[in-house]
Amino acid sequence: MLCDKKFLIGVVALLMGVTPVCSQTKPRPHVIVIGVNGMEWDIIRPLLLRGELHNFAEVLQRGVYGKMRTLSAPNCPKVYSSIATSTPPEENGITGFVVAGKTASTDMLKREPLWSILSKDAVTVGMANVPATFPVMPLNGYMISGMLTRGKGCEDGILCSPKLSEVKGGEAVYPPSMVAELEKNVGDFWIDCSRMPAADELKGKEAEAIDHWLQQVSQVRAQQAKLFDYLLSHHRTDFTMLVQSCEDRVGHWLYPIQPYNAGYDSTLHRVRVDAFPDQYRAFDQVLGKILQYVDRNTYLFIISDHGIKPLREFEEGRRLYHSVHDHGGNTPIIAKHDFEDGDDVPGIFIAIGPSIKRDVRLMGFTVSVFDIAPTILNLYGIPQPTQMKGRVLSEIFEAPSSQPAEPSGK
Ligand SMILES: [Zn+2]
Repeated sequence: MLCDKKFLIGVVALLMGVTPVCSQTKPRPHVIVIGVNGMEWDIIRPLLLRGELHNFAEVLQRGVYGKMRTLSAPNCPKVYSSIATSTPPEENGITGFVVAGKTASTDMLKREPLWSILSKDAVTVGMANVPATFPVMPLNGYMISGMLTRGKGCEDGILCSPKLSEVKGGEAVYPPSMVAELEKNVGDFWIDCSRMPAADELKGKEAEAIDHWLQQVSQVRAQQAKLFDYLLSHHRTDFTMLVQSCEDRVGHWLYPIQPYNAGYDSTLHRVRVDAFPDQYRAFDQVLGKILQYVDRNTYLFIISDHGIKPLREFEEGRRLYHSVHDHGGNTPIIAKHDFEDGDDVPGIFIAIGPSIKRDVRLMGFTVSVFDIAPTILNLYGIPQPTQMKGRVLSEIFEAPSSQPAEPSGK
């Protein structure tokens, strides 16, 4: 948007015989971050082996990829807040879905997030559906909130999925003038993925209830894909961050477990064994659309805040199956991510772009959730603030000389 205006000024200046402003300014790096909640290598790898994820496979070939170390007992609000601030939850204030008895919100954030630092440095920023970004904050661009947006039918601390027109208790879109534009061009979309059905809603009509819910998940994904496509094509920003949530939700109760896994119920788990892998097949299609906006000068990061695994904490014994999951509610949960040892459920890190190495697998825990913000700031030549705990991932680049200057703040 801003660049278009500059471009117009440049054209007028050229006609007047004056050197245009744009020709003197080095363009800002173009960075797109795609977050997928609870993306799980254990499910993705077999699909890659079978050649079912064409776009995903292409991205791996073009870049570096591997596990990403997450937090202890990870969940989306606290990990995404740690990614954005490069600080642990106890410092940034977002320790979970509920903080001091209230649903986590941006008002509680105690450390400056990436998008705010970028905005101050005149980088244009676009954000959509990033968890724990409600109410939205003013920034140099646009922001559409994500998971934990409050609205119709929402109880405190519990996930819900209001539509854009049903949001309450704060703004879900910045600038507010963008609401009408989105309603006109994208529609009245769901801001987060659907809430999972409760055990009593499933009993005796498992297949019907699963299919009905999965249908709604498909609608949410279609709306999100339309939103992302609209934003990338009509509101190009230097830095864009877009997040999907349905993968995690499906994994919690439809992970393709076997009879020997804890929580197996043949009436539920023999019905749609492909439901969870299907989420990644669907994501691959969304990724294909996003790749249309990734030219050879664009950096693309695909990250997940954590993985998700079948129930596995033997120390917790019987309590495990009856514990109240962060966002499981009354749904029978057979897979989760809030294991005390976060290394049991690592996230995913993938990066492609100018000077980033190609087809390189990062072994072990080279990357942590704290490293994302410093690495992105470094691309823009912005020094790493002293409070940030992560580091610039210099080893993902081809040659040190091709990188911007090392940060000086740490
Ligand atoms: Zn989850």
